[in-house]
Amino acid sequence: MKKESNNSSSLIPKIILGAVITLLGLTSFISSPDWGFFGHRKINRMAVFTLPPEMIQFYKKNIEYVTEHAVDPDKRRYASKHEAVRHYIDIDSWGDNPFYDVPRIFEDALIKYGNYTFGTGNRTREAKLVYTRDSIQITTRSIALTCPTESLRKFFRDSIMPDYYEGVWKIKNKDLKRLFPDLQSKGDLSIQDGFSKEGILPYHMNQMFYWLVKAFEDQNAESILRISAEFGHYIGDAHVPLHTTKNYNGQLTDQVGIHAFWESRLPELYADDSYSYLVGKADYVEKPLTYFWKMIKDSHDLLEDVLVIEKELTQTFPEDQQMCYDERLERTIKTQCPEFAYAYHEGLNGMVEARMQDAILAIGSVWYSAWIEAGQPDLENLKQVEVEEVEIKVDPSISTRDHNF
Ligand SMILES: [Zn+2]
Repeated sequence: MKKESNNSSSLIPKIILGAVITLLGLTSFISSPDWGFFGHRKINRMAVFTLPPEMIQFYKKNIEYVTEHAVDPDKRRYASKHEAVRHYIDIDSWGDNPFYDVPRIFEDALIKYGNYTFGTGNRTREAKLVYTRDSIQITTRSIALTCPTESLRKFFRDSIMPDYYEGVWKIKNKDLKRLFPDLQSKGDLSIQDGFSKEGILPYHMNQMFYWLVKAFEDQNAESILRISAEFGHYIGDAHVPLHTTKNYNGQLTDQVGIHAFWESRLPELYADDSYSYLVGKADYVEKPLTYFWKMIKDSHDLLEDVLVIEKELTQTFPEDQQMCYDERLERTIKTQCPEFAYAYHEGLNGMVEARMQDAILAIGSVWYSAWIEAGQPDLENLKQVEVEEVEIKVDPSISTRDHNF
C-alpha cells in the first residue's frame, strides 16, 4: 500500500528528517536502480511471450527465473567497477558527432581512445595515436609508425582482450616489431584504457549475444537462462535515454533526480494499469552489433525531449506540489507527487511505454536470434532451473559513480 502525503512530520525536527531521508535515499539508490527492479522484471517476463512455439515452452517453464534474475546485474554493480560500466554509454562524452566517431567494434574503440606511452623501464614517453578505419599511426618525438588497423585490431582481440580487466596493457617490443616492421628502437608500448569509463553498453550486449549462442549450442539450461535474464537487463537499460548521456541524472542541467523520475517513478505509477504489452512476435536480427547501436541511437535521440519537457514542467508547475513524501514499508522517501508525475507522463506522450515495448520486443528478438544462430537446438527436454536468491553485494572501497538512483 502506498500513501502520498505533503506533510512532513512536525514531531521530528527538520534536520533529523533530512538526515533520515538522505540515508533512506541512499538505501533506495542501492536497492532500486534503473527501470526500478519492477520495470526490469516486467520487461523480461513479457519478452517470453514474443517467442516462437519451439522456444516458448522452455521459457514459460522458467518464467520465474528470467523474471527474478532480470535484476542480478544491478545487484552486482556496486561490487565491481567493471560491472557498472556495462549499464550505460555516455555517448556525448565523445565529441559532437559521436555516432560517427566512436568505432562500433570494441577493440577499435579501445585502440582509438587509449592513452599510450612508449619506452623501457622508467624511460617512457607519451605516444600519440591517430586512428582511422584503415590505418593506425603512432608517433613519439623520435618515431612515427603506421600499421593497418586490421592488424592491431587482431592483436587486441587475441592478446589484449584476455587482459581487458587489467585496464593497462602492454605490447612487448617483439610484437611491436611484427606489427610495425619499421620500428628500430627498443621499448614496449603501454596502453591505458581511456574508453571504458564512459560506458561500454553496446559492446557488452554484443558480447552477451555470443555467450547466449554458445549456451544454446551447449544446450546448457542454466547458462541459457542466466544469460537470457541478464541480457534482458542490459537491453532494458539500452532503451533508457538517460543511459546514453553524461548528463545521466540531469546534474548538468539542474534536473537532479530526473533519472528515477523517468524510469522508476513513471513505470511504478502507470506500467501496470495503463501500459500495453502487446508487442507482437520476436524478429530475427541479422546484424546484432548494428542492432545494438541503433538501440543506443534511438534512445539518445529521445534525450532532448526527456530533459526539455521536464524542465518546462518544473518551471510552470506549482513548486510546492512537485515533490511529496511517500511512505513505503515503513520507510519515508521523497518522490514526485502523482499529479506532477501525471503531467510529465502526459508531456512525454507515451514515450516510457513505447521504450518498454521496444525493449520487450528487442529482448525476445535477440533470444530468438541467438537460438537460430546456434542451429535451433531442441529445447523441449531442457529442465526447469530453480530461482536462486542473489544478494546485493556492495564493496565499500569501490566508488562507482552514482549513475542511477
Ligand atoms: Zn542496469
